[in-house]
Amino acid sequence: MRRATLLSGLFLGLAAAGHAQTLRIHHIDVDQGAATLFVSPGGRTLLIDSGKNGHGGRLRAVMQQAGVTRIDHFVATHYHEDHYGGIDELRSAPQITIAAAYDRGDKAFLPASRRTSPTFVDYETHVGSMADALTRGETIALDPAMTVTCISAGGAVLGEANPAAPGNDENDMSISLLITFGRFRYFVGGDIETPTEAKIADRDLVMDVDVYNADHHGAENGSSPAFLTDLRPNAIVISNGSRADYRHPRQVTLDRMTGLSPRPAIFQTNKYLPTGDDGGNVADQFIADLEAVDADGTILITVNGAAGSYAVAYRGQSHTFPIKPRAPATSVVIASLLPDPVGDESIFEAVTLRNAGPSAVTLTGWVLRDAGGRVWALGSLGTLPAGQSATIRRNGMPLSLNNGGDEIVLLDAGGGERDRFRYTSAQEGVPIPTGH
Ligand SMILES: [Zn+2]
Repeated sequence: MRRATLLSGLFLGLAAAGHAQTLRIHHIDVDQGAATLFVSPGGRTLLIDSGKNGHGGRLRAVMQQAGVTRIDHFVATHYHEDHYGGIDELRSAPQITIAAAYDRGDKAFLPASRRTSPTFVDYETHVGSMADALTRGETIALDPAMTVTCISAGGAVLGEANPAAPGNDENDMSISLLITFGRFRYFVGGDIETPTEAKIADRDLVMDVDVYNADHHGAENGSSPAFLTDLRPNAIVISNGSRADYRHPRQVTLDRMTGLSPRPAIFQTNKYLPTGDDGGNVADQFIADLEAVDADGTILITVNGAAGSYAVAYRGQSHTFPIKPRAPATSVVIASLLPDPVGDESIFEAVTLRNAGPSAVTLTGWVLRDAGGRVWALGSLGTLPAGQSATIRRNGMPLSLNNGGDEIVLLDAGGGERDRFRYTSAQEGVPIPTGH
């Protein structure tokens, strides 16, 4: 299924050449639920969640506006109906193809009442039975200009081999993803809550994003303080409904978000209409849909890589933000580390470098260095062509990637710092992607 996706993706890429350098992210108004459609610079599509049963029409309408008829990759973050309910309607629509699908697997965990519910049976029939189980550390090959990395699934986070206490809460077991396009960084975590957020924060797995798609619709038990402090987003999008059922977003969660420094801009797809309880709202001007019944609350983020900015647009409004001025990926970066290989660590510890720049780089004289000043020489990698990755093993070199955490710096032949990555733990045989 994935191979077929790659081939047809080439044709779509040609058709969508007019959108080169632009990533579009549609936060679809599905009331209480979530559905986020990515259209990559090459015209390829990633749909994360699909709203409730009955929301297929809303998804189709947004796809039509976006000029796409195909979902190259669909991710169901978890098995709650507000995240997968609409996908069967999308798949049964004429002219719409869903080429590849992912969920968190482990369906035996579900109570029989869920497995036999009509909406879940529809999901399984149309998509779920063909879905690949996505686990932390795996990536989705959406577009050569982007990375899509699974940070958590099933309550286990990247770097955790076999957690002693796997998740047992359906929300907290959601698939979460870190998505990058050049310097732009975006996090979406389905309905993960404090336990998984804490494990992500403890390991510094997701730092310093541009946009945060708020966990669990802005619920009180998501967007915990340590996690928010790591993410430090400049913009937050909350996919929430207008009615009293769940009281999303919670005022206490909005207060945590507005307490960040710098204070992020916060956007809601819908206005939470009841008053007098613990639900809350940002100011009306930051809410896409102010009415109860409308489906016009979709928030579109357009990321312009060349301009170094992104625009958040809804209801005739548009707010532009600069992409954070982190080290631009114009040259070689640290792509992943393997501190705890199977076998002899002095031989098999490994680091993968990626040339994110436009031209080949010769690594003669380049080194990796740890806090203690010990190094690996990288000259044996030779010349790294643009867009290519290469892995170097330790093979007895002095620097050791500590299993309990380390900070590794990449230096060029002139001693200039090109990249830096810190991690706090490692698990045997599991590489740590940096997201760089
Ligand atoms: Zn939900």
